[in-house]
Amino acid sequence: MPSAEDGILVLKGGRVIDPANNFDDIADVVTKGDTIVEVGPGAGAKYQDATVKDVSGKVVTPGLIDIHTHCFTGLGDFCLATDLMGVDSGVPVIVDAGTTSTTIFGLARKAIIDHPDTKTKIFALMDPSQIYLANKTFICHYLRIADDERNIDIEAAKEVVDANRDVIVGFKVRPTITDDPDHSPFLEAAHQIAPDLPIMIHLGSFPHTPVLDTEKLLYQLRKGDIITHACRGGGGQLDATGEPTKAFTDAYDRGVLMDIGHSAGDFHFRTARRLIERGYMPNTISTDLNVFNVDGPVYSLSTTMSKLWALDVPLDQVIAMNTINAAKAINREQEYGTLDAGRSAEVTVLDIEEGPCLLSDGHEQITASRRLRAVGCLRAGEWHDAVHDQKARQVDMKEAV
Ligand SMILES: [Zn+2]
Repeated sequence: MPSAEDGILVLKGGRVIDPANNFDDIADVVTKGDTIVEVGPGAGAKYQDATVKDVSGKVVTPGLIDIHTHCFTGLGDFCLATDLMGVDSGVPVIVDAGTTSTTIFGLARKAIIDHPDTKTKIFALMDPSQIYLANKTFICHYLRIADDERNIDIEAAKEVVDANRDVIVGFKVRPTITDDPDHSPFLEAAHQIAPDLPIMIHLGSFPHTPVLDTEKLLYQLRKGDIITHACRGGGGQLDATGEPTKAFTDAYDRGVLMDIGHSAGDFHFRTARRLIERGYMPNTISTDLNVFNVDGPVYSLSTTMSKLWALDVPLDQVIAMNTINAAKAINREQEYGTLDAGRSAEVTVLDIEEGPCLLSDGHEQITASRRLRAVGCLRAGEWHDAVHDQKARQVDMKEAV
C-alpha cells in the first residue's frame, strides 16, 4: 500500500464527491505528506514520482466523521476499540459521545485520544458530570449517580473544558431530573459550564433514572444542539397518528440538529421514512457503535449510511451528512469535512456494492439495490485499509443468505 511519508500520493481516477464544494466528478486527489495538495480531473498526471493508488470505480470523499461512538475502552466495559470504528472502518475522525466525564477526562485523553497507538482522530462530547462512565450494567444509572446533583461541579468542569478545548467539542447530556420535573440540573449545568458548546441529547429514557419529558426537553434545546437517536421508534418526535410533533418541528426549524445515532434499537426505517417524507431530513448519520451493536445491526458507519441511501436519500446528501454536516455539528468545518487544498489529508474511499443487499434496523429488514462499503481511508495522509468494514462484509453477507 502507498505510504505518504513526505512524498506525493495520488488517489487516481475515482468518483470524487465533495458536497461542500458541489464537486462530483471523476478526478484525482493529490496529497503530500499529511496535506491535501489538489483535487481535479487528471490532477495527478504532472507528479512524476508520485505513489499512485488506482481508485477507479470507487467513490472518494472527504474523510468520514462519525459523531456518535463510544471509544474509551477501559473506562467501563461498553466501549469499542477506537480504530475499529475509525480508520479500520474507513472513518478517520470519530467523536465519543459521553463516555467520559470531568474527573476521568484527563485519563481518557492520555490513554486513548493522545496515545501513540491510536490512529483515528478523536473528539469528545463529554458528560458534564464529575463521574460518568458507560457500563453494560448502566451502573451510573443503577446507583443513581446519573441523577444525583452532588455529581455536578461547575467550576471544576469549566477547568477541564478550558484545558481541553482542542478535543472537547461539546457535551453529551443525560437530561435527568431530580425534584423538579420541568428542569434537568445536568442540562442546565452544561449551559453554565460552556454556553458556546453544543449539547447532544438522546431521545428516550435511561434505566432506573427519571428524565425530562421529551416535549419539555425539545423546547430547551438551542440552535446547534444535537438530537441523537432522532429516528427511533416511540421517541416522542412523532405523535400517536405518526405525524411529527410541534415540539420536534419547532426544534428542527430553529436549527436543532437531527442525528441518526443508530445503536441496537434506536433507528427505525419506519420513523426515518415518515420524518423524511414530511421534510425533516437528518443532518448527520452516526452509529452509536458500542459492544451491544457492533455485531449487528450496526456493524459500521458505511452500513449505517447505506440505510439512509436505501431510503432514497441522494448519495451526495448521504455523504454530506458524514462530511461537511458532521464537521459543522462539532464546529470543526474549518479543518474537516471537505477536500480543500491545504487541509489535513483525511480522505475516505468507498465501494458501491451492487445488490440485492439486506439491511436491518434491528426491527425491520429491507432489501436495498446497492450499498456502500469502506475500502480504506487516509488519516493525516497515511493510508489504512478498512479491515473491520471488510470483515463486517463477511458477517452481513452470511446473514443475507
Ligand atoms: Zn451512545
